[in-house]
Amino acid sequence: MTYEKRFDGRDFDETRETKVEIGIIPRADGSAKFTFGNTKAIATIYGPRLLHPQHHQDPEKAKLRCNYDMLSFSVSERKKPGPSRRSTEVSHVIENALSSVVQLESFPGTAVDLEIEVIQADASTRCAGINAASLALAHAGIPMTDLISSVSVGCIGNKICIDLRKEEEDYEEDDEKMATDIPMAFSTRTGKMTLLQLDGKIKPKMLKEAIDAGFKACLKINEIQKKALRALKLKE
Ligand code: ADP
Repeated sequence: MTYEKRFDGRDFDETRETKVEIGIIPRADGSAKFTFGNTKAIATIYGPRLLHPQHHQDPEKAKLRCNYDMLSFSVSERKKPGPSRRSTEVSHVIENALSSVVQLESFPGTAVDLEIEVIQADASTRCAGINAASLALAHAGIPMTDLISSVSVGCIGNKICIDLRKEEEDYEEDDEKMATDIPMAFSTRTGKMTLLQLDGKIKPKMLKEAIDAGFKACLKINEIQKKALRALKLKE
């Protein structure tokens, strides 16, 4: 089956409405909220601060430690609070997605703690979390070579779709035609990909198309992130 429109009427290459707020948690060293429609994530940065216990310190660079979590009421059926295998995995992939652009060698022996709280989830929470985290790091004044931008790309009935909602992620035409979810992140300045995961199946040719579409969407997200940071500078 071929689709002309998406369930919510969006174009195939269109993200949901995006919103950015910076500096929303005054006690944190840096903070930001990133919204993709009904998916809302808050990122806070604490540090760089001396890492304890001392034997965990890296004398060459700071440690970026990410803790991703979804609030119990972020989904319609209450989620059990506390860490899970999924949240541990997502925390690791977010750390990896960001660490290549953060100049950690500027702060040896310290920790940079990144807390990501998903306050409402409608798929693509790790992508919203990465976008918020990039902004929170910049807000904390931590030197970075670029802002990381992230989006999920889906493949539904042979159509590439940007920024999947839960309804799209769960779509299943038959056993062979399930929606494929491909979260990805880029340093758009260098074109370097820092996150690529794949949930589902996709043909190699379509994967290339999906990555190109994801990069294009990340260029737009990067503009939104930069615009929000520029607006903040003007206010200060
Ligand atoms: P992402 O949110 O990055 O797309 P997943 O593909 O693992 O990550 O999750 C997809 C979506 O499934 C989440 O955004 C959320 O809407 C829903 N979800 C994840 N975990 C739970 C849970 N424990 N209870 C209910 N819904 C969940």
